[in-house]
Amino acid sequence: MDGTSGSGKSSTSRGVAARLGLRYLDTGAMFRAMTWWMLERGIDVDDPGAVAAEADAPVLVSGTDPDAPTITVGETDVAGPIRSPEVTAAVSAVSAVPEVRARLLLEQRDIIGDGDIVVEGRDIGTVVAPDADVKVYLTADPSARATRRTAEMVGADVHATQQDLLRRDTIDSGRATAPLAMADDAHHIDTTPFTLEEVVDQVVALVEKALSQS
Ligand code: C5P
Repeated sequence: MDGTSGSGKSSTSRGVAARLGLRYLDTGAMFRAMTWWMLERGIDVDDPGAVAAEADAPVLVSGTDPDAPTITVGETDVAGPIRSPEVTAAVSAVSAVPEVRARLLLEQRDIIGDGDIVVEGRDIGTVVAPDADVKVYLTADPSARATRRTAEMVGADVHATQQDLLRRDTIDSGRATAPLAMADDAHHIDTTPFTLEEVVDQVVALVEKALSQS
């Protein structure tokens, strides 16, 4: 499951995984955890060399229960801190560093193993799991995305949130290594007119169809 920031990837992925009894991996949380650790260490996240030099250092553990996903860095539960405005502002720069991507790619493939998992991110269908049984690419109107995202945060401003989503999309789509892109064989769903439940239904139907044909 790939797509733009705020398109509904997380809620949809978790809903589909829970419905089908599959595991769930939020790769964005892994990039956020890496970013959180860099900020804690005082590393200049706008210096790709400094980020690359530390890319192998933090120990990340991702829990894959869709009803209670977890993420830790070393001994620290970072599920809350990785959603802070500071991490959100810095994550696209850290994610553009090839050494960070190479390291997390290995961990993502290790967790995916033989499958039975819904994986969400930006490059899952194109780079991480090019042989996935079902690929879905979610988008939504920028204003719908900003409205949904603002509703999830305390004291957030819709306009600022929209600017932030668009800024991240631009960096994520423009980077040289594994940019945000739709795989040729992905199903594109524009979630703007649909409820979460409706999008989950559509994706579950795609999975069931693929399984019935395999
Ligand atoms: O999905 P989420 O918004 O939490 O992702 C945070 C950031 O992590 C994205 O804006 C992107 O820079 C990066 N990311 C990535 N590749 C992925 C998943 C996330 O580059 N597969």
